[in-house]
Amino acid sequence: MKKWAVFLLVAAFVGTAFGAAMGADTLAEVKKKGVLVGGVKDSTPPFGFINEQTRQIEGYDVDFLKAIAEKLGVKLELKAVTSASRMPQLVEGNIDIVAATMTKTPERAQQVEFSHTYFLTGQKFLTKKGTVKSLKDLEGKKIGTTKGSTSEQNASKALPTSTILSFDDYPQAFLALQQGKVIAVTTDESILAGLKGAAPNKDNWEIPDIKISDEPYGLGIRKGDKAFLDAVNDVLIDMEKSGKAAAIFEKWFGPGSKTPMTRTFKIEAGK
Ligand code: GLU
Repeated sequence: MKKWAVFLLVAAFVGTAFGAAMGADTLAEVKKKGVLVGGVKDSTPPFGFINEQTRQIEGYDVDFLKAIAEKLGVKLELKAVTSASRMPQLVEGNIDIVAATMTKTPERAQQVEFSHTYFLTGQKFLTKKGTVKSLKDLEGKKIGTTKGSTSEQNASKALPTSTILSFDDYPQAFLALQQGKVIAVTTDESILAGLKGAAPNKDNWEIPDIKISDEPYGLGIRKGDKAFLDAVNDVLIDMEKSGKAAAIFEKWFGPGSKTPMTRTFKIEAGK
């Protein structure tokens, strides 16, 4: 074999190995195929839920993906994920990005990259009005949450004597509460507010002021996918500067919404 041919072979091999180690170039692939495939929740209002009229998934998480796709000049395709399936779906390459109420944790960051924080909340409990005043009232009781969430881990730590029942999604956990099978549903306050806001008998339920964790949400990207992560973070920073991020918050959590909340965060580099 000629010297230059050997050189090319070695260069190709090293290039491939290096590329695999550094992660795929999702930014280039998304631009090439003209589509960004995003994994979102479809039963977690107001983050990702099916609009009964249009049959389309919409919500706070969806609006962030729309803005990113628009900035990249590509179409957006949505795929429904659950708390348990979102990271495997990303790692296996079925979706390009996760926007699904996902908290940034050091354990998860070993498997995926996280964007800057684009939503901040904390874990609380949804209960029947007047039944729970403090964490003590939940000790030794059955509590519902969702599989694959930080909520189930935090609840086990905060309430070691309680039985944590994990469902596939939060509406199923809420159904268990309505049927009296659990005394509370626990997860992020923003999700609990969404469950309560969508319930026909919303005045029967309350979210007592018992907070057991902070939950900063990040968009999930494949490990080592640096160019894509930078592009996504740039869009988030632009959205904060232009007021678009605050406007999306206002749309879903403003005073006129079903889930009024206060914006206590700003999208910042490095956070
Ligand atoms: N934000 C928490 C988590 O990432 C709870 C909500 C969810 O299950 O998505 O696990």
